[in-house]
Amino acid sequence: MLDLVISGGICVLPSGTAQVDIGVTGGKIAVIGAPGSLGASTHTVNATGKVVIPGGIDPHIHCLSPIRFPGEVEPKYTDPPAQVSRAALFGGTTSLIDFVQCTHDRSIQTAIEQTDANWKGACYCDYGFHLTLMGKIPVGQYDELAEAMQAGHASIKIFTTDIRPGNTGRMVQYGDIWEALKTVAKAGGVAAIHAEDNDIVMFMYEKLMRENRVGFEHMAEVHNTLSEELSFNRVIRLAERVEGAALYMVHVSAATGVAALAASRARGFPMYGETLHQYLMYSAEDYRKPGGQMYHTYPSLKFPEDQKALWEATNHGAIQVIATDELCCPLRVKLQGSRIDDTTGGNSGVEPRVSLMYTQMVTQRGYSLEHFAGMVSSNAAKIMGMYPCKGALAVGSDADIVVLDTGLQKTIHAADLHETDYTPWEGHVVTAWPSVTVLRGKVMMEGGQFFGDLKDGRFLPRKVPDEIRARPAV
Ligand SMILES: [Zn+2]
Repeated sequence: MLDLVISGGICVLPSGTAQVDIGVTGGKIAVIGAPGSLGASTHTVNATGKVVIPGGIDPHIHCLSPIRFPGEVEPKYTDPPAQVSRAALFGGTTSLIDFVQCTHDRSIQTAIEQTDANWKGACYCDYGFHLTLMGKIPVGQYDELAEAMQAGHASIKIFTTDIRPGNTGRMVQYGDIWEALKTVAKAGGVAAIHAEDNDIVMFMYEKLMRENRVGFEHMAEVHNTLSEELSFNRVIRLAERVEGAALYMVHVSAATGVAALAASRARGFPMYGETLHQYLMYSAEDYRKPGGQMYHTYPSLKFPEDQKALWEATNHGAIQVIATDELCCPLRVKLQGSRIDDTTGGNSGVEPRVSLMYTQMVTQRGYSLEHFAGMVSSNAAKIMGMYPCKGALAVGSDADIVVLDTGLQKTIHAADLHETDYTPWEGHVVTAWPSVTVLRGKVMMEGGQFFGDLKDGRFLPRKVPDEIRARPAV
């Protein structure tokens, strides 16, 4: 007997959309067949009239990031995996990828173990880690890196900027990036890049401070479209010169970034793009609203013409993934800074991400269900080396399944969500919302009721297939 059957839904399969039943045993999808053909099961979810997609994947989130709280001297931390993963599951996301800071005072293996200690037995959904390289990379780290990548941490993260003045230690110089890319290519991984031109950004900080224009509403002048153009092109050209180096450009925010990615893809290189729902749906104008910091994450919100280019790029262009850059914290923390150099980055948005994108992509823009599922799940699984274990409704895949109620007119309110005490999505109307979320065969959420256990989440070892690194394969 099957453990679980999801019956009668419009299912987004790798082969296309079909009305089928999905049968689950032992946490895996065991059988897919015509409605009513699968026989008995312990639990059945009636998905008639609903859309069934693979569990959402958010490959760019931050939990337990050190952060200052207003009025407190001791640094505290953003919300933990327990809170973020619970919200993710309510919203139809079953896998998250966070970051391990490869600081120089410990081995990469120790850094991984110390980070994993915060996740193991403490996360409701599945999770993995990008390895963040920091500053001047110690020569000894390259071998450690290759080893860690082969052990399932198949992606690194690199910053080409310190982002804010005084925030030193993150930026990696291009020589080190070059060497790191060689290591990553050899180890068979992918490099996630936060690309901004540090010279331009730091110059603009000095300039605006000199001119006393320090309000965060000027953020797009500092973290600007020229910076994105220069840095994207520079790091992409560097990667093009390293055989087998694939880049995943995080939070693409500008038309210039899109153009740089598109040009390299047209030359046949394996360059991939992520944007945030924030960047698609808010612009620098929104900084001027009350509490406008709510909409901010670094680099910055840009302009309507950038949003237009980003949207076009989601339609079979240079953007394959919609992530959140989740940094879950209370509103008073998000609003504590109001200057270009102290405004809190990151978003709260892991819960409404899938529903907002269904609304924007399927309902408003007429994208196919397959295309939408690709943008919120399958493409990230492919690029990050989790496919078809994750990101696919296919026999043998993990049974991470989301049933979406569609045709709704549901207004988002922070009080109904499970993230924190605010949401930048307050008042947005969505046309879909998950009614069931399944993680490896276990119903984690059904009809707004949560059944997860902190022991349910598992570490996800990843391996990026050669195909992803050979050409723009997604
Ligand atoms: Zn981030």
